[in-house]
Amino acid sequence: MVNVPELFGSMVFNQSVMKQRLPKETFKLLKKTLDDGAPLELDVANVVAHAMKEWAIENGATHYAHWFQPLTGITAEKHDSFINPQDDGTVIMSFSGKELVKGEPDASSFPSGGHRATFEARGYTVWDPTSYPFIKEHTLCIPTAFCSYTGEALDKKTPLLRSMEALDTQAKRILKLFGKNVSHVATTVGAEQEYFIVDHELWTQRKDLRMTGRTLFGAKPSKGQEMDDQYFAALNPRIVKYMEDLNETLWKYGILSKTEHNEAAPAQHEMAPIFNTTNLAVDQNQLTMEVMKKVAKRHGLECLLHEKPFAGVNGSGKHNNWSMSTNEGENLLEPGKTPESNAQFLLFLTAILKSVDENQDLLRISVASAGNDHRLGANEAPPAIISVYLGDELYKVLSSIVEGKTYANDKSSKMTIGVDVLPPIPRDSTDRNRTSPFAFTGNKFEFRSCGSALSIAGPNTALNSIVADALKTFADELEKASDFEAALNALIEREVKAHWRIVFNGNGYDESWKAEAAKRGLMELKTLPDAMAHYLDPKNIRLYTEMEVYTKEEMESHYEIKLEKYAQVLNIEVNTMLEMISKDILPAAYKYIDAVSKTVIDLKAVVPGARAGAQVALLTKLDGLTTELAAKADDLSKRHLSAKSAGDAMSIARAYVDSVIPAMTEARAVADEIEPLIGEEYKPFPCYEDLLFRI
Ligand code: ADP
Ligand code: MG
Repeated sequence: MVNVPELFGSMVFNQSVMKQRLPKETFKLLKKTLDDGAPLELDVANVVAHAMKEWAIENGATHYAHWFQPLTGITAEKHDSFINPQDDGTVIMSFSGKELVKGEPDASSFPSGGHRATFEARGYTVWDPTSYPFIKEHTLCIPTAFCSYTGEALDKKTPLLRSMEALDTQAKRILKLFGKNVSHVATTVGAEQEYFIVDHELWTQRKDLRMTGRTLFGAKPSKGQEMDDQYFAALNPRIVKYMEDLNETLWKYGILSKTEHNEAAPAQHEMAPIFNTTNLAVDQNQLTMEVMKKVAKRHGLECLLHEKPFAGVNGSGKHNNWSMSTNEGENLLEPGKTPESNAQFLLFLTAILKSVDENQDLLRISVASAGNDHRLGANEAPPAIISVYLGDELYKVLSSIVEGKTYANDKSSKMTIGVDVLPPIPRDSTDRNRTSPFAFTGNKFEFRSCGSALSIAGPNTALNSIVADALKTFADELEKASDFEAALNALIEREVKAHWRIVFNGNGYDESWKAEAAKRGLMELKTLPDAMAHYLDPKNIRLYTEMEVYTKEEMESHYEIKLEKYAQVLNIEVNTMLEMISKDILPAAYKYIDAVSKTVIDLKAVVPGARAGAQVALLTKLDGLTTELAAKADDLSKRHLSAKSAGDAMSIARAYVDSVIPAMTEARAVADEIEPLIGEEYKPFPCYEDLLFRI
């Protein structure tokens, strides 16, 4: 048995290690940086770096790396060893404060969306002391932000930190109005991570899984998830071993992996960590995804993080549980027990309704990726329409405010904020409405549209920014009011009414919701290009620049990067698809046709007048289908070629959506019709049944 408390965080240079290893005075100064963001002086950094190096070497590290999150969405690291040559031919192990605080990776291979053309060619990384360094495979990893020399963010961490700061500033203004002087408000996140596990040997035989992370072909297996026997079912022994190893590895990195269970689809599982401040939660989710893949390989398995590895089987998402909390530990989304605390809760809630309603596009954009487009709106994940689920009790309370009606069970007529007490709001831990993209679950919101492979930096940057913006307009208004209580009542009533359309408690999978949402004027942004078309709207540039999260130039570069990445993903998918058709699927079909034809000839030689009806029918069918598949591949190839030269990034992305993806679907449909007709020994690669059920 492992000793979990001993194991936990053993590879992390956390506050407890800092306290143990640093001189008291240095620890105090570093703590000031951690808590209040005070700048770290070089002499302090030198002492910290030395202690960190000693600790790292004791724990087997030989190298250090600035660990950062470029706009590719995955993490990057540049390794340097601690060795420092001496005159006498020996080396010492050294690590300076300067090396800890700042690094200069070669930035030229990371996307910048034109940044580098207009700005400086190189970028540098700076330590983010609020996220702890950790040791990963003999390397001390130092979480860093990545910027250009002119200060533009080249990564996902910098804007995230800026958005947390924006929210901190505005939330503190609101709390002050309620007589609270807190030193810090941070957002908190718990990211539930879904994933698939398949056998490594089978995985290597599928070019599509290796190259694109998802299957581009595959007929539905005879057994899918319809029996519901997988969800929370007992775990397969190989998976149990994997999960044990995964948990132990995550615990070493100080990641609070708490629950694990099977998910709805066969071979699908989930890991939920205990929540943390957003910055740490984001870093840890990045690390979690990396660890999930690595540990799987150790067990002869392969972890699939793609949003939709298998057609016709539920895809994977990431529920981003989000809240705001003061340094004194008050969760601002916890409904209160007194009228005053309720009023404060309702004001924050109203700010969220306003921000989500006004920025449906920004939230949708923040979860847009080629992979996630397969899930959103496909009746297995929240629809592409953004709405808010409140749960019955809160819905009743707010509708009484909107409609001025009596709140059920309440003697007084309308609820008066700051005077009446809220009814008890039960915590909804049961995922009662899984169809809602943004659901209140008792003391937090759950943003459920995130894709499983996505970095959650983007969605949280968007969330923090839009809520900060709404809080700002509220604070601007309320700070001026002479009668705070009256102003508060009026504001909440007015704003809830104005944004009531965003509240939807019904079934998001229902076809009728689309029509209803359209009637309400809500946006349905089905694909990444549909969503990105709104990114540079003046409203969005105003919001992000005013909240000082992105500059206009940064947004312009993100626009390019997102569209280019989308086209790149599809480009690889089409190439892989065409290759599999011509190298795997058609040759397998021909071989089988040839074999069956021979049996007919042989049969007729032995049995003159034999009908060979089944074989002939099969051969006719296969002849028709292979001819059709070749034609579809041809068509796909032509469309792909013309999409690639469609013009600017948006036109190319649009051409993929409008012309190429439909051709991919058509080609796949024919291939999937061929698959079950081919004899087992002739099949070109493992099928769905193999991948989903052979573990
Ligand atoms: P469960 O869904 O397992 O019953 P919860 O609903 O409490 O449990 O938690 C689901 C996820 O939400 C977990 O990752 C949890 O840590 C996270 N979570 C709980 N409280 C908060 C909070 N205040 N802020 C952010 N995330 C939270
Ligand atoms: Mg959940």
